[in-house]
Amino acid sequence: MKANNQVKVAIVTGAARGIGAEVARRLASDGFAVAINYASSSKEADALVAELAAKGAKAIAVKADVANPDDVRAMFETTEARLGHVDVLVNNAGVLKTVPLADTADALYDQTFDINVRGTFNTLREAAARMNEGGRIVNFSSTTLALNMPGYAVYNATKAAVEAFTHVFAKELRGRNITVNAVAPGPIATSLFLDGKTDEQIQTFASMPPLQRLGQPEDIASVVAFLAGPDAGWINGQILRANGGIA
Ligand code: NAP
Repeated sequence: MKANNQVKVAIVTGAARGIGAEVARRLASDGFAVAINYASSSKEADALVAELAAKGAKAIAVKADVANPDDVRAMFETTEARLGHVDVLVNNAGVLKTVPLADTADALYDQTFDINVRGTFNTLREAAARMNEGGRIVNFSSTTLALNMPGYAVYNATKAAVEAFTHVFAKELRGRNITVNAVAPGPIATSLFLDGKTDEQIQTFASMPPLQRLGQPEDIASVVAFLAGPDAGWINGQILRANGGIA
């Protein structure tokens, strides 16, 4: 357990861009020292570190392919050496390609499961041994799991696995005072959602929630900040569907 005046440490995977970057910004402004994990976006990761440092926050960029257990181990070791033991783990890194199941290539199946499922598994396994008492883990599912739209079979299967990890791991950490929850966003205006869609398709998604707009990364960052913060201490093993009311 950390003394109240010690800075808490968060790892955010896939934090150089998209939702992860906004989560890193929000946790930094909430007082966390943040490890910004990236796989390929090194320039964006460095720029975010500089942006947060300019605001007085402590942040580092850490390259790791979450699908690779050695990379994940090294990511925790680097974070511990440079920022301290980890209090918050946000498993944000993820990929989506919408393809009908019958047309899905083996390589796409493998990549989607490797990053979304094995990536989350790798960080959870590492976190079990390393995280501070009182820690918080936030996984990433998706509201697409509730919508069952064509093209989402493999992606949804990976997010179903993440939800299963969330429920079971919360119980396996009994006695450690660590919560494990997941956020399940609806459509959020990032490249994962926008790339490859026509304006018309984007408008169709934007009109689906009763709140009648696409979500923004900030909408999800605030949910993650809540789950990682002092007010969510009694929420454990839950999936929080943050989607403007789509499902
Ligand atoms: P995004 O803008 O495409 O960003 C994806 C992030 O994942 C990037 O930072 C990328 O890092 C990282 N990443 C990909 N492969 C990685 C790997 N092997 N190791 C480490 N990092 C890796 O996506 P996003 O919309 O922010 O999505 C973030 C999470 O929200 C995902 O889990 C996604 O499934 C979930 N989600 C998104 C939406 C949505 O509508 N956007 C809805 C529901 C759920 P690099 O750039 O460094 O490669």
